[in-house]
Amino acid sequence: MTIEPAQAAKSLWGPGELLAYEEALWRQPVEVPGEILEDVLIPARGFMRARTLKPGEVIRFIDVEGQQVPDVLLYDPTNLKNCSSVDNSVLMAGTWQLTTGHVIYSKLGQKMATITEDTVGDCLASGAFCTDSLNEMRYGIEGTHSCRMNLVASMMEYNLAPLDIEEGVFVPFMNVQYESDGSCAIATPRSKPGDYLDMRAEMEVIAAVSNCPSEHNPCNGWNPTPLRVIIYRP
Ligand SMILES: [Zn+2]
Repeated sequence: MTIEPAQAAKSLWGPGELLAYEEALWRQPVEVPGEILEDVLIPARGFMRARTLKPGEVIRFIDVEGQQVPDVLLYDPTNLKNCSSVDNSVLMAGTWQLTTGHVIYSKLGQKMATITEDTVGDCLASGAFCTDSLNEMRYGIEGTHSCRMNLVASMMEYNLAPLDIEEGVFVPFMNVQYESDGSCAIATPRSKPGDYLDMRAEMEVIAAVSNCPSEHNPCNGWNPTPLRVIIYRP
């Protein structure tokens, strides 16, 4: 197999070039309707250390280069068993296409967050996320980076083990094609550089975020890239 220059470009960068690139991304000005509390650049395949949002605060996921998905899991800080339930959210919304105006509910039925802006309109609302065992089933390769381990890392101060990460993950920008014959398949995201989704906390929530490292399917356009997360108070 020949490696195309475009695929190899970043891996051939010299010392410091990747860091300089990430720093330049992070320094790109961004405007939000409020006071910025946190501004986090998540490197390709990386994770954000979990942050606690107060009611009314907004978390914005920015797809920096386009075609990149975040995997987002919300927790009730008073009870970590009570995390986001995509099933509850889909049933309440009456659609699996959760977007502006829809609410992410907890397992116990509290309103955790409302999607207040979504410039793409695509998502995965099945609750699922990539794991090394799923990747081994699908691709025959063991030990891949995965959202499961990113979410464990994101929640490290809460001491969750891999099997504590529940299937309540919401995935903005993810493009899944559902056909009338019942089949479904992951497609390349339609998100472009700068597209974003805002979620406003409706109660105190812990937000755990994985920058999905999947690179063996089109979920991230075959090429995981950085994400930027802004937390702001409107
Ligand atoms: Zn993933």
